[in-house]
Amino acid sequence: MICSPNNYIYDTDEGELADGVIRITTLANHDRWCALPENKYRAAKEEQYEASVASSVRFMPDFRRYVIDTDVFTPKTIRRFTWHDNGAVYGAPEKQLDGSTHLKNVFLCGTDQGFVGIVGAIVSGISMANRHCLVAE
Ligand SMILES: Cc1cc2nc3c(=O)[nH]c(=O)nc-3n(C[C@H](O)[C@H](O)[C@H](O)COP(=O)(O)OP(=O)(O)OC[C@H]3O[C@@H](n4cnc5c(N)ncnc54)[C@H](O)[C@@H]3O)c2cc1C
Repeated sequence: MICSPNNYIYDTDEGELADGVIRITTLANHDRWCALPENKYRAAKEEQYEASVASSVRFMPDFRRYVIDTDVFTPKTIRRFTWHDNGAVYGAPEKQLDGSTHLKNVFLCGTDQGFVGIVGAIVSGISMANRHCLVAE
């Protein structure tokens, strides 16, 4: 996935964000990234950067000579900072759409109810409330 996120975000504290930011997201294997020793992990991140950018410029203007800063993160990074199992970005692979648990009257809302992303997590709260709390007796 290739996007230019700052093109449409207006930060109320900082005003208009600087343009020229490209974000590229690729599929990644948690176990293989985490199995690498530190030096190979760092080298693999460099290789992944080069490969993903080279792939992306097949679909967009070649921006490589204008790059002034880069950042690469992997499932290992996500696990370290969020504790998400397997470094998941969008929750569990198998969704529990109705949010029910083994406990009566305890329901989950969030990305594991199938509404991915931040907006999805917010919407799922509304959806679960409608489904479980606001139903007619
Ligand atoms: C690096 C990264 C970048 C992302 N970028 C974007 C983006 O640009 N736009 C977008 O829309 N989405 C993005 N997402 C996805 C988005 O962050 C998630 O879909 C969303 O935050 C999920 O919300 P949630 O409430 O379901 O789960 P979470 O935000 O993960 O909340 C779960 C909470 O439960 C707590 N918890 C877990 N286990 C227990 C337990 N046993 N007991 C008590 N508490 C527990 C955790 O500490 C956490 O606070 C990104 C995710 C990552 C990891």
